[in-house]
Amino acid sequence: MSVQLQDRPVAFRQYALRRAEKLKQMVTPYLKQASTIPTGFSSSDTFESHRAMILNYFGATLDDWENWHWQMTHRISDPHVLDTLLPLAATQRQEILRVGKTFRWAISPYYLSLMDDSDPFDPIRLQGLPSQAELFDDFGEEDPMGEEYTSPAPSITRRYPDRLIINVTNMCAMYCRHCQRRRNIGETDTHSPRVQLSQALNYIRANPEIRDVLVTGGDALLLSDQTLDWLLGELHAIPHVEIKRLGTRVPVTLPMRITDELCTILAKYPPLYINTQFNHPKEVTKDAKKAADKLIAAGVILGNQAVLLKGINTQPQVMKKLNQELLKIRVRPYYIFHAKNVKGTRHFVPRIQDGIEIIEQLRGHTSGLAVPTYIINAPKGGGKTPISPQYLVSLDENKAVLRTWEGKYIQYETP
Ligand SMILES: *Cc1c(COP(=O)(O)O)cnc(C)c1O
Repeated sequence: MSVQLQDRPVAFRQYALRRAEKLKQMVTPYLKQASTIPTGFSSSDTFESHRAMILNYFGATLDDWENWHWQMTHRISDPHVLDTLLPLAATQRQEILRVGKTFRWAISPYYLSLMDDSDPFDPIRLQGLPSQAELFDDFGEEDPMGEEYTSPAPSITRRYPDRLIINVTNMCAMYCRHCQRRRNIGETDTHSPRVQLSQALNYIRANPEIRDVLVTGGDALLLSDQTLDWLLGELHAIPHVEIKRLGTRVPVTLPMRITDELCTILAKYPPLYINTQFNHPKEVTKDAKKAADKLIAAGVILGNQAVLLKGINTQPQVMKKLNQELLKIRVRPYYIFHAKNVKGTRHFVPRIQDGIEIIEQLRGHTSGLAVPTYIINAPKGGGKTPISPQYLVSLDENKAVLRTWEGKYIQYETP
């Protein structure tokens, strides 16, 4: 007996060791692939030499670089300036000239510094530089979300029972080539006038079931500190508004916008959630981390809403690396959005199979914290619809067949 008692743990341990060896083998191919994917941290030397070159061109200083107003007034939107700062092939220079006549483009010096000099398929270039594919899209619609039909008050979009969006600006630090609201990005940058925002606030005050207000645009953090202080203060004072959220891409495209002054304002209005949009591990830089650290110190809770974009992040190992890099800077992956059929963005629209495969390769294979929900926005304002691999194979009254993350089929009974 006593021999058996001593033997058993040994046998268990041997079993666990064999299993651990198998698990190690499962992750090995990913580790090999992931080591070849550039991240913001692994590319930081290159980014710093780009920064020096751009500052030299503008005759500016590091202090200028850290000033978000300097970044905004020095946005690159002229193909000739671009060509000086980022050597382009002759065909691409022509392309940018041509597309620029129809679609606006602008890139912050910071985001430009993340672009690869030599790779035309660099994921940062693809998000920032206009491509002629934008002109040849007879598939997409201007407003597939039907946003024009879901606005019960000025600046408001309401599609859900207990929460809504206030649109505060059409301005962004960069005009993403995959933008779903390109119809709003005119030639002029405008913030919604205060009278209009006051009407939106009145709508919220008059509808006590609204417990969650999402301030977005454009980019909510391109509002001035004063306007943000006012708007968040007004929302904070409405008793039934339990939480506030800001939608912004500045942690990715203009991290110097996250100033101490801004953080002092944000800290006054908890609970405040900020959702941003990192789409590729190269965007997770030292500067992005600094911005995240400051926001977290101000009590803000950070989430990421990635957009699934063909040629940028549809490879499962890229998405896995992105979500792991985000957890390191304390940004929790929240959603992966399937790119919508917006006119001029067809070349980015992936297959639904790509999204399902990504979730399949995340769940179980890496931290549950790194697994966002994959969402397709139903057309005509139908709402966010979660899409998932099938783990429930069949379900009867008290019997189910499950498929585990490893692909094992298991009978599961309930009393
Ligand atoms: C996306 C969205 C929300 C927020 O949805 P969550 O799933 O709660 O993040 C709210 N209102 C509108 C109109 C939206 O499009």
